[in-house]
Amino acid sequence: MAGDNMETQNLNSPDSLWRPMTQHRTLLSNRPKHIVKGEGCYIINEDGERILDGTAGLWCVNVGHGRKELAEEAKKQMEKLAYVIPIMTSDPAVELSEKMLNMIGMEKGHVYFTSSGSEANEVAFKIVRQYHLQAGNPRKHKIISRHRAYHGNTLATMTATGQAERKIGYEPLAPGFLHVPPPYPYRRHPKLTLEEHGEECVKFLEDTIIYEGEETVAAFIMEPMISGGGVLIPPDNYLAGVREVCDRYNVLLIMDEVVSGFGRTGKMFGHEHWGIKADVFTFAKGMASGYMPVAATVVKEEIFEAFYGETSELRHFRHINTYGGHPVAAAVSLKNIDIVKQENLPANAAKMETYLRNRLSEFSDHPLVGDIRGRGLLLGIELVSDKEKKTPVSLAQANGILQNCLKEGVLVMRNGNTVPGLGNILIMAPPLILKENEADQIVDAVGKSLNQALN
Ligand code: PMP
Repeated sequence: MAGDNMETQNLNSPDSLWRPMTQHRTLLSNRPKHIVKGEGCYIINEDGERILDGTAGLWCVNVGHGRKELAEEAKKQMEKLAYVIPIMTSDPAVELSEKMLNMIGMEKGHVYFTSSGSEANEVAFKIVRQYHLQAGNPRKHKIISRHRAYHGNTLATMTATGQAERKIGYEPLAPGFLHVPPPYPYRRHPKLTLEEHGEECVKFLEDTIIYEGEETVAAFIMEPMISGGGVLIPPDNYLAGVREVCDRYNVLLIMDEVVSGFGRTGKMFGHEHWGIKADVFTFAKGMASGYMPVAATVVKEEIFEAFYGETSELRHFRHINTYGGHPVAAAVSLKNIDIVKQENLPANAAKMETYLRNRLSEFSDHPLVGDIRGRGLLLGIELVSDKEKKTPVSLAQANGILQNCLKEGVLVMRNGNTVPGLGNILIMAPPLILKENEADQIVDAVGKSLNQALN
């Protein structure tokens, strides 16, 4: 094809792995890094190059790479009991369910285990619909989520996801999902205070419930702060406002803690920053720091109780997954939680946030830096080409900065093409064991890459 630069293009994938989110028709020089080892905050490639994992994998390796104690725990559990049909129970699964309820301060409740964040949210959607049906509100089925949020890759969780580009080619999506705008302090109307912006976004939710008919709305799903969608931190009044609206209209609040759980934001769970409680919580990633695929949907007891009945009445949750409550995954998760607690990783995330923010403030006047924001070790830099107009940098420029960071030995990411034209937020989310010299390495690589991008 004319202009296609055929000589340097590799039309065959280098291997048989079909990688996510990857255009495999890439230049030979863009071959993926092939990683052979992980150690603390670093991953090491086949050439022995050490790369600082500034994204903790996909924001999940909270306790860092190469933890022998987790490998030993897996071995021990595998030798004892590797697998059991999930309608039966095992010690690790029971213990983990109790620990999780305890950690989120739910005196009574039930925990449904799965293997990924998407599944945990899918389970949440099915539970809230069935709950309302069985609690006497059969028309309540709609699920409201927010633009820019990511909730998963299945047809329903992708429908809930508020990122248009991810849906192209996969329509028709799941019916019964609606979106409202999330708080976006940096791009709020300039006449609004932060508080007014928070109120405005709560009202978007309330109006949508009213216009749709409260008797048709089952749940609202949100991350405490939008992570992959661009690190959007809500004003302080937002979560309390959302809680009130959900209560007013008997809409269940599903808190997606898949990224923000287990210390990432400087507290054990993201919602703790705003002191509210949800009706349903979903967890994954940091639950086992990526050492095992494990996820959970936690519901308050009142929801669980609506599932009691005679078997023939079909009131029970008719859902099964082969790996739910996997004993090895649960054992590793328990050990991982011990590490998060013993090493006080939420506190380290908070401490390192302060350190990183101090150093990142060196870039406040940089022409490409529009906003620096985040909580704990989930930090974002919104890149703009015009600070006054807040014009986003081009995707090519944002990608160039990421590639340059990688050349400097630091892996950072940007938000996926969340909204057309707004894939301009550089995201840093390293393991929570990060030390100052490692934070310096991230900041130095980002600084150099920002300057490089000006040339
Ligand atoms: N919720 C949020 C907030 C996420 O960021 C993700 C994944 N990045 C998911 C759900 C889905 O998790 P998984 O990739 O494990 O299915």
